[in-house]
Amino acid sequence: MSQLTFLGSCREIGRSGFFVEQNDESVLIDYGVMFTEPPSFPDMIHTDGLQAVALTHAHLDHSGGIPRILRESEASLFCTPATRDLSVLLLRDMFNISRGPLPFTRKDIALVRRQCQATAYEETVPLGHHFEMTLFNAGHIPGSAMVSVRVNGKRILFTGDFNATESQLNPGARINLPKHDIVVTESTYARRTNPKREDIEEALMDTVIETLERGGTVLIPAFAVGRSQEIMCILERRGLPYKYPIYLDGMARSVNDVLVRHPEYLQSPQAFQRAVSRTHIIQDNRERSNAVKSGGVIISPAGMLKGGASHLYFKMVHDNPKNSIVLVSFQIPDTPGAELLATHKVTAGGRLFDVKADVRQHHLSSHSDSRGMLDMLLKIPGEPVFYTVHGESESCDALAERLEKRKREAHVAEINESIEI
Ligand SMILES: [Zn+2]
Repeated sequence: MSQLTFLGSCREIGRSGFFVEQNDESVLIDYGVMFTEPPSFPDMIHTDGLQAVALTHAHLDHSGGIPRILRESEASLFCTPATRDLSVLLLRDMFNISRGPLPFTRKDIALVRRQCQATAYEETVPLGHHFEMTLFNAGHIPGSAMVSVRVNGKRILFTGDFNATESQLNPGARINLPKHDIVVTESTYARRTNPKREDIEEALMDTVIETLERGGTVLIPAFAVGRSQEIMCILERRGLPYKYPIYLDGMARSVNDVLVRHPEYLQSPQAFQRAVSRTHIIQDNRERSNAVKSGGVIISPAGMLKGGASHLYFKMVHDNPKNSIVLVSFQIPDTPGAELLATHKVTAGGRLFDVKADVRQHHLSSHSDSRGMLDMLLKIPGEPVFYTVHGESESCDALAERLEKRKREAHVAEINESIEI
């Protein structure tokens, strides 16, 4: 008998984790963190028969607890080489800024590299006596994968986070997937429709050019992994004139180095390389204030203006009406970015900043929207049973309902629920 247990990301976004057992062997898919205070993780698994850990992608809500597992088990970690390298970067950063105690040490993060068996898309690997695993491109961030596990004659797909739409940085997710019996799917934007990506890119370019032509500086706070590099590629491919400099700051700099080493995960390695060569890397505060004065585009984490170098830039650009602050992702309520959008003000460090700069939002999503999600899921052959995870509770319900309307069996997974396979 085999069994699948949903360890986390049930009616929530964060601490993803799925455990598949067959007789005395098991495999784990993702083991992420949720940034509560202190940070929370899925319940610890028994690692005795653990054959492997598969990781969908580097984001910490999927990878943030992996060192806790590897310190207890010699099981190999299966993921793409890009996911391995990006995870190490993000885990180190999490360790450095963490306020609460973590269930692993800084040294344990090195196990991610040591125990990793780098795996290519479409490659099938046997795990123990009972399992087989294949990774498929998920189109979410470079190196991201859907994990397909075969056990007991059945195939289970864990979509991880996916985007079926290609971007200037990522090729879209693999659409024509093989037959599956069970699909565990994310539902982040199950209640949202995204505008066409070309339209968002065009609007973003219009904002950038307008600002630069009136002599202002553009600040684009962006996530370090993926979004910062996508902005670089958009500016390059949509022909931002070379007289306007592009600057990059924060952890996005190290992410660039990783992606230059793994060009096979990019939509256009040549365009990315061109974008990298024209981008100025910022090293210190003197360069930061020079960049603000020079009238160019500054791309800097954090994406919601919470910490990171983007906050330093915010203080320098906010009071000049010639400047623009362009938000390029969803802004979680109670973040400085959300406050800025709603009120044109930001409270930080006990001070209230009244923002005179132009504020825009051009939301580039790295997840499929409700239509894209349903399209991809309904194409999976084999009449699979669906379990929705990784979304607000209402989004998990909404996706299950939409699948049921299409006469498919769908359930919302509940935390620590186990199903027989
Ligand atoms: Zn993600």
